[in-house]
Amino acid sequence: MFSVSYDLHIHTCLSPCGDDMSTPANVVGTAALKGLDVIAITDHNSALNCPAAMRCGEAYGVIVIPGVELTTEEEVHVVCLFPTLDKALGFSEYAYAHLQPVKNNPAIFGHQQVVDEDDNILREIDNLLINATDIGFSDVPKAIAPFDGLMIPAHVDKDTTSLFSNLGFVPPDSTFTCFECKNMKNLHALRMQHEYLRDCRVITDSDAHYIDHINDPVNFLDVKEKSIAGVLDLLSHKF
Ligand SMILES: [Zn+2]
Ligand SMILES: [Zn+2]
Repeated sequence: MFSVSYDLHIHTCLSPCGDDMSTPANVVGTAALKGLDVIAITDHNSALNCPAAMRCGEAYGVIVIPGVELTTEEEVHVVCLFPTLDKALGFSEYAYAHLQPVKNNPAIFGHQQVVDEDDNILREIDNLLINATDIGFSDVPKAIAPFDGLMIPAHVDKDTTSLFSNLGFVPPDSTFTCFECKNMKNLHALRMQHEYLRDCRVITDSDAHYIDHINDPVNFLDVKEKSIAGVLDLLSHKF
């Protein structure tokens, strides 16, 4: 067993609400300086900054899991993590095709920049990435299955854009094995209130939109293998 420090919910400058300074190189570089073992890049409804982030991860010795923070049609945020870059990019394309086709206005919402590992801006994404997709919460498992994705309902204790703020309960057909808690002080009450959560894994992440907000290495996972597969394997099994 290996104990790895993690922060599995980090935005880059691709998210309109993400700081333009949060380039893949700056995010992964900050994680390396802090001594984080594993991070995930989870921009809203897109994985297009994962190629650069994963290259930086290799250069800086940080495991970078490619991901997407999906917005369901109920506006529930779900962190989706993938075993490979190709799978993440495949799902990213799928999610973008299911996103409301509304153009971004960078002056209001912020830029949506695809950046390479040297901070060069490659392009801007047209459609506003923080909008909802037409994928329902209960359809997420089916949507991510072809891409071998793992779904983690995000910040379930947040009072907006979360499973409990927007749906209010765990749908009975749910199959997720892990959820994200924003403040671990809420964990006990959540598990008391929602029986489904009692044998689920739980993680807590920064949800950083600025590099200053990335977590210090204070949260750990015990994995059999120090790799993307090792982390995903752990989180895809309940207790
Ligand atoms: Zn979110
Ligand atoms: Zn987020």
